[in-house]
Amino acid sequence: MDLIGEEEKKALMEVIEAGYLFRYGDLSNPRFKAKVWNLEREFANKIGSKYGLAVTSGTTALLTALWSLGIGPGNEVIVPGYTFIASITSIIFSRAIPILAEVDKTLTLDPQDVIKKITPKTKAIMLVHMLGNPGHLNEMVKIAENNNLLLLEDCAQSMGAKYENKSVGTFGQMGAFSLNVYKTISAGDGGMVVTDDEDLYKRAFAIHDQGHLPLRQGVEQGKRSVLGLNFRMNELTAAVAQAQLKKLDYIRNKLKENKHILKSIISTNKEIEFRHILDKYGDVGTLLTFFMPTAESAEKLANKLETTTISKSGWHVYNNMEHFLQKMTVTDEGCPFTCPYYNSEIEYKKGMLPQTDELLNRAINISVGVSDAGLGSAYGIHVTSTREEIQEKGEFLLNAIEQSLD
Ligand SMILES: *Cc1c(COP(=O)(O)O)cnc(C)c1O
Repeated sequence: MDLIGEEEKKALMEVIEAGYLFRYGDLSNPRFKAKVWNLEREFANKIGSKYGLAVTSGTTALLTALWSLGIGPGNEVIVPGYTFIASITSIIFSRAIPILAEVDKTLTLDPQDVIKKITPKTKAIMLVHMLGNPGHLNEMVKIAENNNLLLLEDCAQSMGAKYENKSVGTFGQMGAFSLNVYKTISAGDGGMVVTDDEDLYKRAFAIHDQGHLPLRQGVEQGKRSVLGLNFRMNELTAAVAQAQLKKLDYIRNKLKENKHILKSIISTNKEIEFRHILDKYGDVGTLLTFFMPTAESAEKLANKLETTTISKSGWHVYNNMEHFLQKMTVTDEGCPFTCPYYNSEIEYKKGMLPQTDELLNRAINISVGVSDAGLGSAYGIHVTSTREEIQEKGEFLLNAIEQSLD
């Protein structure tokens, strides 16, 4: 995102000038600004969750959540074949088995396929709200309840997205967000975990910091019941994240406005089909995604835009995750432990999700606020684009679409 400015600088300087950079401190010490602590409260508030926990990345947010939920060896977790690889690796590093499922025209998990993938070993569904837009939340909540499964929401790409006026991340037991540079708001890197459940929050807190209880002042000896690692955020990151959080509504409104203009321009073409949006008010608007009628026309268009179809967007599509498609063993370089699926019957093969493949071969991502070649959205506009620029890019795009169709 492009909106890093005076507010972030001021917040950062406040911490630097005070000279106290660690998340824990004594509130009576004027040098301690409690940025991480306050960010956690403000973030949870914004999302409408009871608890928020700041961590180092979206990936560690997912890991923390999976471990808190008790997901481990022998468990299967259903995850879409179209997602950033971190959704899948976090399951593998929990020693659980990722079960890939199809996406539908929302480009999020297809509820019908999720039902088909449930086995007696299934423990959780990881619903990924891809490209700024919520997935089938009502259905997933129901499927999870009916089958006694946990629901974890990967909201890394959808900070600011809502479903029926409720933020993503609040429907399942836990939600994970990212503050990486390619997301709605950013501190360079960083992540957040949210939950309404006090026990899960305490477990998550312990996991993110060597087993400690959630205390502002930190270290408390002798009361640990959980083993943890260190995924702590520091005061500098939190200062920037807090300033960014204050801009979320502005960013969201701007994105939606810009997306609307861009979409209206290309809507005059009736041969393209827009990605299905389940709640048009809930989309955060970071990307404009549509399907061309054929893979060939999509390929042509991608060439004209000097971008790629979504099917070629690197580690966002299971087909391109070469390290994960192999069965890794403890002796391979790819995995530091015996891969959880090494001895299982489960196979990961190119082309195993035909519905996903068919859709992604025809799908094009246009940046509205997240320009990322890795996501296939190198072409497009930015949150700071002027009206003229949007018009110009939109007309070029429309023209390119029309030329690609014949
Ligand atoms: C970016 C992303 C992540 C990982 O977030 P990081 O902050 O980069 O670790 C996880 N899931 C999805 C869907 C993402 O897009």
